[in-house]
Amino acid sequence: MNKTRPGRHYNIPIFIPHMGCPYDCIYCDQKIIANQTAAPARHQVAAIIEQHLSTIPGDGCIEVGFFGGSFTAIDPFLQEDYLRQVQPYLAQGRIGGIRISTRPDCIAGENLDMLARYGVTMIELGVQSMDEAVLAASGRGYGPGDVRTSCNLIQARNFQLGIQLMIGLPADNQARDIATAVEIAGIGPQTVRIYPTLVLTGTHLAALYEQGRYMPLQLQEAVHICKEMFLVFDRCNIPVIRMGLYPGEELRRPGVVQAGPFHSSFGELVEQMVFREQACSAVRRYWSCFGAESSLCLYVHDRDLSKMLGHRRQNFQYLCQDLGLVGLEVRVNGDQVRNSIGVGKQTGLGCQLLLPRADYLQSLL
Ligand code: SF4
Repeated sequence: MNKTRPGRHYNIPIFIPHMGCPYDCIYCDQKIIANQTAAPARHQVAAIIEQHLSTIPGDGCIEVGFFGGSFTAIDPFLQEDYLRQVQPYLAQGRIGGIRISTRPDCIAGENLDMLARYGVTMIELGVQSMDEAVLAASGRGYGPGDVRTSCNLIQARNFQLGIQLMIGLPADNQARDIATAVEIAGIGPQTVRIYPTLVLTGTHLAALYEQGRYMPLQLQEAVHICKEMFLVFDRCNIPVIRMGLYPGEELRRPGVVQAGPFHSSFGELVEQMVFREQACSAVRRYWSCFGAESSLCLYVHDRDLSKMLGHRRQNFQYLCQDLGLVGLEVRVNGDQVRNSIGVGKQTGLGCQLLLPRADYLQSLL
């Protein structure tokens, strides 16, 4: 089988809860989870991989990801043991690579050499913020300088770099989140994930929340900040591969999320906001080219339709009200490039003006 199979990307996640992590980040419930969830024994790794492989169609790029804790902080013999279990799959081409997640201050030349020897292709750093005060208030135990150093080391050895960021941490604000996004975009990671901070029961953050010393972001606020960060990365062609925590069973269990902007489709809400604002811009451009028409038709690629309409068609209603439109239709156009918005009259002339994402982003500068 070929190692570099085209098509969708699949991760086989192997959860290593809190192993080796000597820190106590204010929002983290890994210790609580770790009390209930043991890390897999080395011999269980193959069984996890086999089980996932049996459900993945054969035309994708498949990687094994050791997520959850700080992989490079666990006992080096155990790191090697885990990685050794994946080697037969790499050798047979059934797996294309290995990802690990870790902390920025747990990266050094020696462990990167070892990771490279075992075929690790991507290192995801839980950076969270590039603001000194936010990192300190969140108990992260490192500063922005450590992040810069570790990113340099990772990139110098040609690993792919993934960055995880959080918004709404203690001492955080929108300006600090945007500054973080701008600096991270300048570093040039291959992927970014953005998570709004949630207050999980039993954490230090929950205690602060109960004492009235921490207020989580409201959902709309979180969506807005995340949208601004998403645009920073989009402008630099850096894929934001996840926004919002995966709404798995654990998080949806009653009482687990005590407060905070939890939404099962958080990322979709962010992209819907982008489409809404891009559509406003497209309509205004249309008016300046073709005159103030009050009944319009928007055109989008069929896979962008739900993002254009918005949750419960809220974008549709918002656009009518905000732009004072008498009539609005949204039509799909399979030939149109993704993330572009076309505008035309409702009377059948078709799309007269097209606003691609890149042009929209340029107009925001
Ligand atoms: S470093 Fe990661 S695992 Fe450790 S306490 Fe912080 S968030 Fe939790």
